[in-house]
Amino acid sequence: MIFDFHRHGSLRIWCGQASIILEFHKNLRRAQKMMRVIFVIYFGVACLITGVQFLTEYFKTQDSILTELKQLEETVKGPISTSLWQFDNKQLDVLIDGLVTMPIIEGVDIRDNQGNIIVSTRIYGLDSEPFSIFETKEDLVWTLNGENIALGTMVLYSSSKVVLDRVWFGFVLIAITATIKLSVLFWLFVWAFNRYLALPLKELMSQVGEVQLSHTLSNRITLSNFDDNELNQLQEHMNAMLTRMEEDRQRLLNQEKSKREWLEKAVTERTAELQILNEQLKDVATKDSLTGVLNRGNFFETAQHLFLLSQRQHSPASFILMDLDYFKLINDKYGHFIGDHVLIHFTQTIQGLLRKSDLIGRVGGEEFALFLPDAGIDEAYEIASKIRQAIKASTVEIDDQTVTYTVSQGIESVGPDDHSIVQLYKRADVKLYQAKDKGRDFVEI
Ligand code: GH3
Ligand code: MG
Ligand code: MG
Repeated sequence: MIFDFHRHGSLRIWCGQASIILEFHKNLRRAQKMMRVIFVIYFGVACLITGVQFLTEYFKTQDSILTELKQLEETVKGPISTSLWQFDNKQLDVLIDGLVTMPIIEGVDIRDNQGNIIVSTRIYGLDSEPFSIFETKEDLVWTLNGENIALGTMVLYSSSKVVLDRVWFGFVLIAITATIKLSVLFWLFVWAFNRYLALPLKELMSQVGEVQLSHTLSNRITLSNFDDNELNQLQEHMNAMLTRMEEDRQRLLNQEKSKREWLEKAVTERTAELQILNEQLKDVATKDSLTGVLNRGNFFETAQHLFLLSQRQHSPASFILMDLDYFKLINDKYGHFIGDHVLIHFTQTIQGLLRKSDLIGRVGGEEFALFLPDAGIDEAYEIASKIRQAIKASTVEIDDQTVTYTVSQGIESVGPDDHSIVQLYKRADVKLYQAKDKGRDFVEI
């Protein structure tokens, strides 16, 4: 599983081919948009309710003004009827003037029975006519000898201006209350939004970011809000996922570790095997498989180096060529198996008489060579004599058989004009023939 945390605020969690994307900023933006939408709706509803309150207040006040106008009409209709009956225009004008000075009256009309205007007064100009005018009408009668005589009608006008003057204070109160309610609720909503949604989401985001940056899976998400809600459930799921991932990682690490250990062990074993094979290969390439001494090629190569060294150091060196006497007869008499053992016996016997620095090699079937550094002709002769005597005195006991044999040797010492070991070999070979000619079991200098 891989956490892929992006700077623009989304987290992609990969599990094999599948992945989940948690887009925190987008979610926050969505939450902010949701808050805006809710607030706009709430604001609209609050304005509507306030408007309805305004209208209700307005019409209630208008009704109460109409009632007051009716009461006024009741009060003044008597004196006005008297003025009309008596044609007392002066008194009528005084009464009308008195009426229009009242704050709720905006105009007065007095009409005769045919509807013709007798008196008409307005206190507002035609250019500043209020947007709403309402009126009350009252019949004017004169009672004579118990009979009612219709004189006309009286109309009292009032307007929206009067209503608004009266409801103005109530309107301001309603507006202030609505504003306070709206503000308090707005800030409460903002607080609740931050407290329960925005801050926990931000906390979750930052903790997921820390997990991502830590590069270990040991960190866990611990939200400070302990309520059982969707965010805490998400936290539990993510922590469970982290635990699972940590276990998987640990398992993989362990697997890798054991694989590595196995591989290291296999490599070590293989290296040891290769070293043994290498040694064996080197032995095959450099040594004689029967006797274990150097083979012909390696003997001459090494002897050449030692020869050149002794030349440079002007130190003496000698070459002995050895050939077993009548070896063909030994083979014929005892067989090749015993012949082989005689060859092994020979090398083992002479190795006990040589120094560590002396070089021995098998240069033919039953022909061996010695290169003796730091050994002059006398010393070489001494060694060759010891070999001759030791071989002659020894016996090979094998398969209830006792074999005795001898060896002939030719010795040559390194001269100042020599430049190759082959020269020494050739000269020693001549000496060896001479030794054979002298009856074998002989050392020829
Ligand atoms: P001389 O005294 O003149 O050297 O006589 P010789 O019989 O030793 O000489 P010759 O060269 O006739 O014979 C050498 C024999 O050595 C012949 C060969 O079969 C035998 N021979 C060579 N290599 C081996 C070997 O590895 N094992 C055995 N068993 N015999 C070998
Ligand atoms: Mg021979
Ligand atoms: Mg021989």
